[in-house]
Amino acid sequence: MNSQTIPNLLSKRVSLTPHRSAIQFENRTYTFQEIYDLSFQMAGHLQGLGVRKGSYVSVLLKNHIDTVVVLLSLQLLGGIAVILNNRLTAEELVFQIDDSKSMLLITEDSFLEKVEELNALVPIVSKESIRESPYDMPLLVKEIALDDVCTVMYTSGTTGNPKGVLQTYGNHWWSATGSALNLGILEEDCWLCVVPMFHISGYSILMKSIIYGMRMILQQSFDASETIKVIKEEKVTIMSVVTTMLSRVIEELGEDRLSPAFRCMLSGGGPVPLPLLEKCVEKNVPVYQTYGMTETSSQIVTLSPEYSIKKLGSAGKPLFPSQLKIVDTLGNEAGSLESGEIVVKGPNVTPGYLNRDEVMSDGWLNTGDIGYVDEDGFLYVQDRRSDLIISGGENIYPAEIEGVLTSHPDILDAGVIGVEHNEWGQVPAAFVVSKESLLEKEISEFCAKKLAKYKLPKKFYFIEEIPRNASRKLLRRELRKMYEELR
Ligand code: ATP
Ligand code: MG
Repeated sequence: MNSQTIPNLLSKRVSLTPHRSAIQFENRTYTFQEIYDLSFQMAGHLQGLGVRKGSYVSVLLKNHIDTVVVLLSLQLLGGIAVILNNRLTAEELVFQIDDSKSMLLITEDSFLEKVEELNALVPIVSKESIRESPYDMPLLVKEIALDDVCTVMYTSGTTGNPKGVLQTYGNHWWSATGSALNLGILEEDCWLCVVPMFHISGYSILMKSIIYGMRMILQQSFDASETIKVIKEEKVTIMSVVTTMLSRVIEELGEDRLSPAFRCMLSGGGPVPLPLLEKCVEKNVPVYQTYGMTETSSQIVTLSPEYSIKKLGSAGKPLFPSQLKIVDTLGNEAGSLESGEIVVKGPNVTPGYLNRDEVMSDGWLNTGDIGYVDEDGFLYVQDRRSDLIISGGENIYPAEIEGVLTSHPDILDAGVIGVEHNEWGQVPAAFVVSKESLLEKEISEFCAKKLAKYKLPKKFYFIEEIPRNASRKLLRRELRKMYEELR
């Protein structure tokens, strides 16, 4: 494994470019020197609360300049930040705090009620009262080993209990480097962060800001018209989005255009549908589609805009330091256009999970996702292996059917699962949230125009809401439970 060391990232950055703009939050711009000073101060209080190198510290905070300061002060002390999703329920928080054996929970007043019952489990301090705690001259970690753990982030828990992913300094370093080798770094770059800092999508922007010496604009929540305004007025060049954000920006943009300096809309978490991509091309919004997960410390595969239409639906190719292959159920490498499990490797890939001994073979991580690579080496992600439907020997990917269903103007949301069938083994069943009252026949006919017959859902259930987790990801296992109750 990696045993190289590099200087503490924030200390190094402040020694190189102290007066450069670092982070902009609510009309105030902080230089790297100011961020360092605030983080140093915070580190003193955290040390006063007992935080040392290697301590696990849970962090439950909204996007805010204080969050940046807390996260960076933990890096200064060598503490390990267990970063918690703000939308988790108290019960889910208990699991993650307990599993990580955190010695402290740092939160904010607005969450105190939610975390009240965690009092017996862990000492809790709110960011508003942290400065009242004793100050101890902080012992800064001058040098970090690339295989030291920097953060723990739990996976979304889409397929089961969330797993605590260990993200090392080396993982973050190589993720930032791999991204820079793909996008390049321009002196005028400014990255807009509206995605949550508790996700790797947001945290990785902070790491890039420190490593590149780049300005970053942090916002608490997403608003399409605010985004357009900020991109123009603040000369934003890059922004990370998920598909729903992208589609709202495009809608809000109307006949307007983003500034010519804006060079990358980095879109992750799921595929971007064709009509949306076409609109992006029409409106000159350069979309880079990506595939990644908590385990790969942000994106690992990326598609440049010049291929966005030609390789429609593809997530692209692995970044420079990373590799991917597709393997069949026997573990053999699949040929081009053959579906199988996506397996990835690279210095940005986690060394493993907290308290679990899943083994990786020679550094290759099984993603649990199914996909294929075309003859030119472009990856197409199909679905999660656990959700694959096998009907009469044919593979059906529920995500494909969901994509068709949600393209219907009166369907707000949809989820598809495989259910038992005497003749075919399994058939797809669809759960639909509709705007207007729709007839099963209407939807079926709509699907028949776009899907092969064996992929057509054999049953439709109209429900109020599709079950989603704290990351807003579809929970097909909850749909399976619903199906058991309904049938
Ligand atoms: P868990 O592992 O606990 O089930 P999760 O996999 O949803 O949760 P994340 O790490 O947040 O947790 O999400 C990564 C997953 O998101 C990927 O493994 C993949 O299934 C999906 N994903 C990410 N990017 C894309 C993409 N471009 N296209 C399709 N799916 C994607
Ligand atoms: Mg996962």
